[in-house]
Amino acid sequence: MTEHLLKILIVGDGNVGKSSFVHRYVSGQFNKTYKMTVGVDFSVKLLHWSETEKVRLQLWDIAGQERFISMNRIYYKGAVGCVVMFDVTNSSSFLSCRHWKQDLDNKAMLPSGDSIPCILLANKCDLAQRVVSADSIKEFSKANGFKTWMETSVKENKNIGEAMRRLVQEILSV
Ligand code: GDP
Repeated sequence: MTEHLLKILIVGDGNVGKSSFVHRYVSGQFNKTYKMTVGVDFSVKLLHWSETEKVRLQLWDIAGQERFISMNRIYYKGAVGCVVMFDVTNSSSFLSCRHWKQDLDNKAMLPSGDSIPCILLANKCDLAQRVVSADSIKEFSKANGFKTWMETSVKENKNIGEAMRRLVQEILSV
């Protein structure tokens, strides 16, 4: 049995749903008041990937940034994949994704020098007051080097496991 240990970053503006996403994915729950304990660096999820492979995911959620700031290189060290998340009801959180991706491309590289696989997640798609269209996300993801983007709702448990499987697939095929 092979075990892959994958460090994955979860980035995006404050309040887009990052810690809820990690909590949902790891524990299967959605609590409105949940906030990751201060001082916890990462959460762990073990996947039985195939007959011969296990995947241990280390999910690193940046703690509550109100807006984009350039992250410390230490945080990026050893990361092999990333989730960039925004909130479809908040256009500035969408605009910030360009900065998050640029910061990643500058600081988180694979040993080959290539940028690490990133998936773009358009969260809170359960809400009616959506302001970011699917067309603009599609265009943006193409222009900014995302192979995959998905609409998610952490609240309704939509596409959470699917998104992580896609990302792990991309990481393992690099
Ligand atoms: P973070 O600052 O990016 O970690 O965001 P949080 O995980 O703290 O979530 C911010 C707020 O958005 C909380 O009140 C969550 O309950 C809420 N939230 C997260 N995901 C969703 C979602 O998919 N739909 C809706 N309607 N609310 C969500």
